[in-house]
Amino acid sequence: MHHDLFYRHSGKAPIAGLLCLGVAGPAAALVLGWIYGYAILWIPWVYLAAVLPLLLGAGVGAVVAGSARLGKIRSVGLVAVSGAALGVAATYVQWVAWLTGAGAELGLADVGLVRAAIGAVAAEGAWSVFGWEPTGGSLYAIWGLEGLVIVALSAGVPAGMLLDWAFCENCDGWLTDKMEMAPFDPVRDEQVLKNRLARGDLAALLGFERVDLARAQFAKLTLKSCSGCQRFRLVSLHNVERSYDKEGKEDLSETEIFTHLEVDASTYDALSKL
Ligand SMILES: [Zn+2]
Repeated sequence: MHHDLFYRHSGKAPIAGLLCLGVAGPAAALVLGWIYGYAILWIPWVYLAAVLPLLLGAGVGAVVAGSARLGKIRSVGLVAVSGAALGVAATYVQWVAWLTGAGAELGLADVGLVRAAIGAVAAEGAWSVFGWEPTGGSLYAIWGLEGLVIVALSAGVPAGMLLDWAFCENCDGWLTDKMEMAPFDPVRDEQVLKNRLARGDLAALLGFERVDLARAQFAKLTLKSCSGCQRFRLVSLHNVERSYDKEGKEDLSETEIFTHLEVDASTYDALSKL
């Protein structure tokens, strides 16, 4: 029997999950989009306004991720597509809010009026920075970038989170037991390790040596197991590089070696005792 080395989501999306996403997602796009439109209108600092698209995208994305978690949706594709669609919706809603706040008389359903109003604003310009007041094509390019950031985060945030989760199909629940172990000797030859794992040689993992806590480069093992059935165990491995910024603040950047390798009980126990 063919057995996958790595865990992959089953792609299942229960009806309850779809309902959860179908209610919470549009509600988030509507509420957050509306707040965003007014915030852009009333916040005088253009720099802060430039950060807001990140917040709106991350906000919509977080609601999509929360719905997937609550509703047990195990499909990265579905979550990404829903997130992107809701990002587009939030971008549209913020336009309507912005135009309404600026005095235009239109509603969410008036797509034609919204388009005409945006055209009128583009012709006149909406704001200036460093004495430059973009209009026409430049303004459309900035708006396009703004929308792209919102949509990319709305889709990318929940998809990224889902890829980091694992679901026990036996117990119908997300894995919540997680143990991070570090620092170990960093992985020097990723390919050699992967080749051994591909041959089913899990002992390749047991050679990790603990190293000094202050090491700038080290490996980190993440162990996850299902507390329900005790039969589902996953191991992830990252190389980590520690650096410090000018203020001495620590920054850890992780490079994935592999994520969610399925291992047997004895390998798991041996790893947890390293
Ligand atoms: Zn289980």
